[in-house]
Amino acid sequence: MDKKRILVVEDEKNISNVIKAYLIKEGFDVITAEDGKMALEIFNNEEIHLIILDLMLPKLSGEEVCTTIRTTSDIPIIMLTAKVDEDDKIEGLSIGADDYVTKPFSPRELVSRVKALLRRSYRNSSPLAEILVFNNGDLEVDIDRMIVRKKGENVYLTSNEFKVLVSLLTRPGQVFSREQLIELAFGYDYEGFDRTIDTHIKNIRQKIEDDPKKPSYILTVYGAGYKFGGA
Ligand code: CA
Repeated sequence: MDKKRILVVEDEKNISNVIKAYLIKEGFDVITAEDGKMALEIFNNEEIHLIILDLMLPKLSGEEVCTTIRTTSDIPIIMLTAKVDEDDKIEGLSIGADDYVTKPFSPRELVSRVKALLRRSYRNSSPLAEILVFNNGDLEVDIDRMIVRKKGENVYLTSNEFKVLVSLLTRPGQVFSREQLIELAFGYDYEGFDRTIDTHIKNIRQKIEDDPKKPSYILTVYGAGYKFGGA
């Protein structure tokens, strides 16, 4: 998971500093705001993954900030509140906060709420995870969109070449015979000769290897078949 950036909105400097220190220690990026207006400004201009929002703030209250953000965004928000009675807790949640923590709170408890909420919120949302990157970005493969890039430039593989490449690179290091590779890439009912695989491999190498004669991605395993050597 990429480093998550958290916006801490709290006018009491000592509390803000403690929260910030704990979050940084846990590996988060932290931006702080001292009032509601500043919080909205930062939210509109920076990439933020979660907001810790105090209820009682100068200029704009935590409620107002939360309501405003909720008109455009479902970013996870944890409300900090000094009020302890049940009505306020419910109100905090009904204006769109995902969780609330009552002051005084333990910073450790707050951090664990932050982590839990981040897990809940970002569990299934990593659109870039489908792009596989090899050899420090030398080769990129977007399997869903069938895009291959070599040193940042698109290269065009035929659909059969793409199937062969994906069959190999999704199982790095595993050695495949020609028959196995044909089955994997094209299915059992493929009618071609074993040697057509060699032609595909040759073509793929021309497109993605620095030197097709000394391949680093599609490696020949003599007497056995092929394997993927990218890392
Ligand atoms: Ca406050």
